[in-house]
Amino acid sequence: MSFQVFGFPVSRGVAIGRAVLVASSRVDVAHYFIEAQQIETEVQRLRSARDAVASELHGLQRDMPADAPPELSALLDVHLMLLHDDALTGATGSWVRDRHYNAEWALSAQLEVVARQFDEMENDYLRERKADLEQVVEQLLRALAQQRGRATPAHAVNPRDFAGEDPLVLVASDISPADMLQFKRSIFTGFVTDVGGRTSHTAIVARSLDIPAVVGAREASRLVRQDDWVVIDGDAGVVIVDPSPIVLEEYRFRQRQGGLERERLTRLRHTPAVTLDGQRVELLANIELPGDTKAALEAGAVGVGLFRSEFLFMNRNGDLPGEDEQYEAYRAVVEAMRGLPVTIRTVDIGADKALDRMSVHELRHEHALNPALGLRAIRWSLSEPSMFRQQLRAILRASAHGQVRLLVPMVAHASEIRGTFDALARAKQQLQESGRAYTDVPVGAMIEVPAAALMAHVFLDQFDFLSLGTNDLIQYTLAIDRADEAVAHLYDPWHPAVLELVSRTISVGRARGKQVSVCGEMAGDPAFTEALLGMGLRSFSMHPAQVATVKQQVLRADTRRLASRDAAVVP
Ligand code: PEP
Ligand code: MG
Repeated sequence: MSFQVFGFPVSRGVAIGRAVLVASSRVDVAHYFIEAQQIETEVQRLRSARDAVASELHGLQRDMPADAPPELSALLDVHLMLLHDDALTGATGSWVRDRHYNAEWALSAQLEVVARQFDEMENDYLRERKADLEQVVEQLLRALAQQRGRATPAHAVNPRDFAGEDPLVLVASDISPADMLQFKRSIFTGFVTDVGGRTSHTAIVARSLDIPAVVGAREASRLVRQDDWVVIDGDAGVVIVDPSPIVLEEYRFRQRQGGLERERLTRLRHTPAVTLDGQRVELLANIELPGDTKAALEAGAVGVGLFRSEFLFMNRNGDLPGEDEQYEAYRAVVEAMRGLPVTIRTVDIGADKALDRMSVHELRHEHALNPALGLRAIRWSLSEPSMFRQQLRAILRASAHGQVRLLVPMVAHASEIRGTFDALARAKQQLQESGRAYTDVPVGAMIEVPAAALMAHVFLDQFDFLSLGTNDLIQYTLAIDRADEAVAHLYDPWHPAVLELVSRTISVGRARGKQVSVCGEMAGDPAFTEALLGMGLRSFSMHPAQVATVKQQVLRADTRRLASRDAAVVP
């Protein structure tokens, strides 16, 4: 039966595909297709994993001390029974045979199916056995991981090269920004998550993937079933499950239209972004990883306006990248951009961006009371002075290879400004002492806190440029946690207080002859292009996929007309 689930649109366009449900804790399980000739090897991997776990469990039973509680042995019996139950291991083989999923993915797909059956059981005792099932699957995944070295790793097959395979969309309760990174080159053609707001970092990374996505769809992962046909309408924020043929046809039509429109827009790639009245506008790219520079250049971006360097620090189990590794990454970006400016933001960890694969839910409930107001961004960097200097040294060294600008996130206090410049001076001194090459870099502040926006004129005594992080500026001005879907309807970029702070910051920058750019999601939303141009903004930084659409707005705009209209809107 067809039904709809509503959430928040994140990334435009339509995706149609079969649902792959992934539990938050298993998002890091490898998802790839295998070739037909690898099926038997993959099924054999599953059998070997099952045998390995079985012998482990038998071993535990055998070596159990005589005084061990009898429940323990009974529990191992339950695990053995689940392990050999056809509903788990047998059916997992079908995902491999019929769908060409790799063993780990097949196992987690089947876990979702069986776990749901447990959830629906009337009997409390049986329902609670779901935890045992999850433990067994965990052991199987571990056993599969141990085989990795021995088994020939099946190489990933792009679904588009895989004749007859249906496109897939990912449905999960929550995906951490760190996990989202893994989907950069993924097989999924769309995403749906239960939690998150429009500018949560999970949504931001999803947007950078340039595939339709809906977040904050609350019940989606409970209502959608493994393998259901799903339409993701990324424009309206609607997910249609099991659509009727007529609805499907309508969306297929929209999908084709969207494709044609994109093709048309790519022709603007080499067109300079100049308004009708001859104002040059700089359209820059936001990137998360060095590999994103390719998309930035292809989109015609004239530089990187925001490199979210914290993504280099994620998924590393606490082993943070050292100076040389960071230097190589920054240098790769600088060189790839071939002389165009590259703005590297110092680490902005915290709030909804954890170093490890922690969901927003886990962060909120197991860690800081309110991570958005806690130790994040520059606050975190200043609390880790040697890590901060290490990053600054790496950025300074990369500056010897091109045009680098340094950007500091979330500054609000004079002490933070002092702390940043002291750390920078010390980093330079260390480089000089060790005889390493570097170039002086312009230093900019992100305006993300209302206090900073109100004091932008004072900031400009110290900083060379400003970059408005409107995602956070909206969050902190309106007191709305940007990652919380429960208050996402109040997250309003059009709120007059937000527009006032943005407009004021742009004016202050212009008056002082210093550059102000916007690098929050507002910059890539064509609905805001005219308003921002009218306020005097001439530098926008956004996901590469948004450059062409915003450029189209710029080409159609006349800033003389916009400036007079804007004066009437913003007092
Ligand atoms: C912002 O806050 O607008 C911004 C660009 O930074 P981030 O989204 O990474 O917090
Ligand atoms: Mg921010």
